Amino acid sequence: MRIVITGASRGLGYELAVAAAGRGHQILAGVRNRQEAESRFDRLDAKLRASIELVELDVVDDASIEAFASLLHDREASIDALVNNAAILRGRDHGIESMDLQDLAASFDTNFFGPVKMIQALLPFLRKASLPSIMNISSDAGSYASASGGDYPYGVSKAALTYLSEKLRKELEPQGFQVLAIHPGWIRTDMGGDQAPGDPVQSAEQLIGLLERVRPLKVKKYGFVSPAGLELPI
Ligand code: NDP
Repeated sequence: MRIVITGASRGLGYELAVAAAGRGHQILAGVRNRQEAESRFDRLDAKLRASIELVELDVVDDASIEAFASLLHDREASIDALVNNAAILRGRDHGIESMDLQDLAASFDTNFFGPVKMIQALLPFLRKASLPSIMNISSDAGSYASASGGDYPYGVSKAALTYLSEKLRKELEPQGFQVLAIHPGWIRTDMGGDQAPGDPVQSAEQLIGLLERVRPLKVKKYGFVSPAGLELPI
């Protein structure tokens, strides 16, 4: 498969790129700063590294998304899977009165509008694949079942992404797409922190495994599945 992964410079996105390359896929890894990312990716063994192409991609920058799409257009490329992984966690520990609207807007820009814009830009290339997939990395922090008080920006932006995914699934599944909203587990990354119980390498392997599954994947009632099989009604 040819897989596009956003936010691949570190954390889960990086591990997704490495795991997918290790399983024989070709990766277009979107990073905000290619030079910086190169120093990390260049430490991979040569065979893995050869399967990963680093491309500058900032999901809040329309020009960057357009440049990425025109690169694909020039190559007459097809894309088998888009993994919307890039996200930010902003403005924690605030109740509604002290919540900073800029944190809310920034969270929506990256965590919601970023995936929306990527999907719109890449649909023409996904449509060329025989079994296209869109995997939106969401979070149980955005599920109804796990809603906690306060901490609005991240959770509500992820709730919007999960709901978008379900609507998208309804629209695109009849056209042969697989659409998933995933909670990757609480994992040890810059965002998840050192205390997280989950290993991002393991999570990445499971997520790539989901993309490889032959459809129709049994997307459960609410279209929200985790690699561990945990299903969260939202
Ligand atoms: P990290 O904070 O460790 O990494 C975030 C990644 O997103 C970085 O590569 C960062 O790039 C990139 N990024 C941020 N903004 C943009 C942007 N505008 N354009 C492109 N890339 C961007 O997060 P994780 O790896 O932990 O999270 C990955 C995904 O998993 C996210 O969607 C997150 O919400 C989700 N998730 C994570 C959990 C966890 O426990 N870690 C739990 C539940 C969900 P840069 O290096 O340039 O900053």
